Formats: sequence, C-alpha cells, structure tokens
Amino acid sequence: MGTIYVAWGTALRKMGLEPFIPPYSSKRTLSLGAKYSPEAICLPYKLILGNFIEALQGGADMVAMISSPGICRLGEYGQSIKNVLKELGYEDKYIELQLYDGFAGMWRFMNELGVTNPITIINVLIIGVNKVFTMDKLEKVLSFYRAREITPGTAEKAFNKGTKWVYEADTLRELRKAEKRAVEEIRKTPIDKNRDILYVDITGEIYLVLDYFSNQNVLRELGKMGVQTRRSLTVSGFLRDAIIPKWMKKKNLETHLERAPKLARPWLKRDIGGDALEVISDVHFANRQKKDGIIHISPFTCMPEIMSQNIFPKMRENVDIPILPLIMDEQTGKAGYLTRLEAFVDLMRRKKRKREMELKNK
Ligand code: SF4
Repeated sequence: MGTIYVAWGTALRKMGLEPFIPPYSSKRTLSLGAKYSPEAICLPYKLILGNFIEALQGGADMVAMISSPGICRLGEYGQSIKNVLKELGYEDKYIELQLYDGFAGMWRFMNELGVTNPITIINVLIIGVNKVFTMDKLEKVLSFYRAREITPGTAEKAFNKGTKWVYEADTLRELRKAEKRAVEEIRKTPIDKNRDILYVDITGEIYLVLDYFSNQNVLRELGKMGVQTRRSLTVSGFLRDAIIPKWMKKKNLETHLERAPKLARPWLKRDIGGDALEVISDVHFANRQKKDGIIHISPFTCMPEIMSQNIFPKMRENVDIPILPLIMDEQTGKAGYLTRLEAFVDLMRRKKRKREMELKNK
C-alpha cells in the first residue's frame, strides 16, 4: 500500500527479522487475490490477499496485517484471509496487528514475533513512526515538483532515489540525513515557474487513496496535467489519530479524525464505517480551503463510500467545489479513466478562469 513498506521493513529489520518486500501490486497480484476471494468483496481485500500469496510463494515465513474492528468489511478481512491461507496450505503463517489498541497493540504484536526487550520495542516504534512521517513529507514535495516539472518523470525518479535512502536509514540521525538529502534531490527537478497550477485534494477509501496500483497512479496523471495534489488521508494522519497518545500531540493541532465529525455534521451525523465520515468532511474542508477540486476514489462495492457518493449531490447545494467520483475495480480501463480526468481538469480550469475574470471586473 503506497510506500508503507519503508516503515514496516525498517521496523522488522530493527526487530532482528528479515523483511521480505514482495513485488509491488500488479495484475498478477490482483488475479491471484481475486482467484481466492468472494466475487463481490472489495478491491483492497483481493490485493492484500494477492500480496500475501506472492510473499509466501516467494519464501516469506510469516505475513502480518494491520487490522481494526471497522463497521464495514474490514473487520472481516483478518479471519477471512487466515481461512484462505490455511486452505492454501499456509497455516499459522498469519499474524495481526490491532492498530486501534494503540501502543499496547503494537507491544503485543512484537511479543508475538518474539521481540520482548522494551528498549528494542521503543526503538522500533520510534523509527517506524518517524519513517511514515518522512515518506508523507517527501510525497508532498514530489507533488509540488511533479505538477511543475519540465520533463515528466524527473521528480518521481528523484523521489524513488530518496525513498531508497530513507529505507536504508537505521537510526533517527541517519533518517534525518536521508530525508534532507531526498528533499534536496527532488528540489533539483527543473520546473516551469509560470505554469498555471490547479490544486486538488484526493479523498476516498484510504487504501485506494494511497495505493498507486489500484488508483491507476492518479496523482502521477494529474501531475502531468499541471495539478498539484494533496492526499486528505495519509498514514501519518492515521497514526496521529490511532496510536499517538494525546499528550504527545501538538497542542491546538486538530487531527483529521477530530475535524471529521464537526465538518461532516450538516450531512452525516455519525461514523458509518470505512472513511465515509472523513470523506464528507474532506469535501467541506477542501471547499473552505478554496481548492480547485476534489477527487473521491473508492473501490467498487465499498459500502461506506457508496453512502458518501450519495451524499455529494446534497452537499452541492452548499459547497461550490467540483467533485469527481472515481470508482475502481479490476475491470477499470486506463483510457476511459484518463478521459474523465482530462474533462475534470478542463472543467476546473474554466471555472478558475471565470473566477479570475469576475475578480478583475469587480
Ligand atoms: S472501507 Fe470499503 S473497501 Fe475498505 S474494507 Fe470497508 S467496505 Fe472494503
């Protein structure tokens, strides 16, 4: 899922285990996962299962998944995956990290892996969490340069180099150095400073927002069209809400989840599972921030996101921001989806020009 392997891999290395990084999700991963999944289950499940099968086939001794109770199907993922792996002959190869149990859940998880030394556990948590924040920071820098770069792909190449340096860092000191070096590397990208940039937020179901295989690398495609993107859902944001205790958070800094019920309230009054509450609040937030548009990405059959999509028409009575809903499944073709993105970018540009003209004529 996105670049989460950077933090996971490091954490495992620090625990004295050898991380196995399977190939990034591909059509093969998806068809492997789909083969052993119920047909109507959501796309992230199929990909996660496919990743696990590829990892076990590649020689991994264990596979682990972050899980949470969830009102939607997420709560079922763990048991279901465990059953499938058992049927495939991989019994007792699956362990779970209950993220919503906070540090206690992490502690239990590491104990299960045979790591009991508190100093090691604290070090693992510190470096793992910091790497998540570093990667999200690098993604932000990448998004700025990708929208303005003269030669498409330059910023991403630098980002990939930087990711490698961050992955290799073993201590906080090394991580700070690697982060600085990676940011500098991306900043070397030659850019067109006069390019007319659009600013777009990306929201939706968290897996699809983060995973560039299943979202067909929407951020890269938008970058090529001169759009600077900001993911409303990030792993660092999730960690801030799920595991970092209140006393360790910056005062006066409202987290994503703290903001969600307040901003979603006129349209959605309670959590209905998945990221629906956050999505509704993200649309409101992006509108308040005067973004040029917001894209909502969701997997086909995702129950909470079907609900949020049905709330958008009502929201349009009060919010002016253009919203593009994109529903992804294993059949989604690239050409049709690109045409929709281009049409959306055109619409946002026209709207922006109109706004500028109105301001000029005032
Ligand atoms: S949020 Fe949607 S895609 Fe994610 S587990 Fe729940 S139902 Fe599936």
